[in-house]
Amino acid sequence: MATYQLKIAHLYGDLMNTYGDVGNILAMDYYAKQMDTDISTQLVSLGDHFDPNDFDIIFFGGGQDFEQTIVAQDLPSKADAITEFIEAGGPTLAICGGFQLLGQYYIGADGEKITGTKSMSHYTKNQKDHRFIGDTIIKDEQTGEVYHGFENHQGMTFLGDDEAPLGVVSEGAGNNGQDGTEGVHYKNVYGTYFHGPILTRNGDIAKHLLVEALKRKYPNQDFSAQANMEIPATF
Ligand code: GLN
Repeated sequence: MATYQLKIAHLYGDLMNTYGDVGNILAMDYYAKQMDTDISTQLVSLGDHFDPNDFDIIFFGGGQDFEQTIVAQDLPSKADAITEFIEAGGPTLAICGGFQLLGQYYIGADGEKITGTKSMSHYTKNQKDHRFIGDTIIKDEQTGEVYHGFENHQGMTFLGDDEAPLGVVSEGAGNNGQDGTEGVHYKNVYGTYFHGPILTRNGDIAKHLLVEALKRKYPNQDFSAQANMEIPATF
């Protein structure tokens, strides 16, 4: 058994799992092992109780509009607890549909408005008969880190004044194809339109999530070695 233990809540992982983004949990496990940390995961889905104190990391994957409407019906029962986790600095990875649903609202391709958890201030509008599809490259202006991904979304997300983008777009459409932003970095939430197992290509994001989670759970320990760990360019 490793010295440290972290527990991930996989929010609606049976519904929101487009492009195999469950691979992000395998990637976190891979990097956690190098940090002397064991990872456990619990699916938290429709009808399940979510207690923010039971978990160290939230992972909320991407999904199609159909699944998002199903999830949205259950979200009110968990919205306050998710917001509490985020506001307390809980490390969170949210991809595409998950990123959209942590915001104010999402308007689907058919115009239906879905209410999010309202944990964060961004909101997502729809566009007519068009999707943003293709490779994306962004740069985190604060850290200088460059992230690579693949996007496929119709939603156009606009960040709130209290939200920073995950990065500035150098290739691709990003949040909305207009303002050059991609994703969100708010407290310890990393939200993005990158699809699939993004942490296999962007291990620095996995490192940030894990180190923040370790610091919160073990406040008297020093995790500078983990924070300085070199992450290889590919998994
Ligand atoms: N259904 C959403 C959209 O099309 C999110 C898709 C996704 O998760 N990639 O914008």
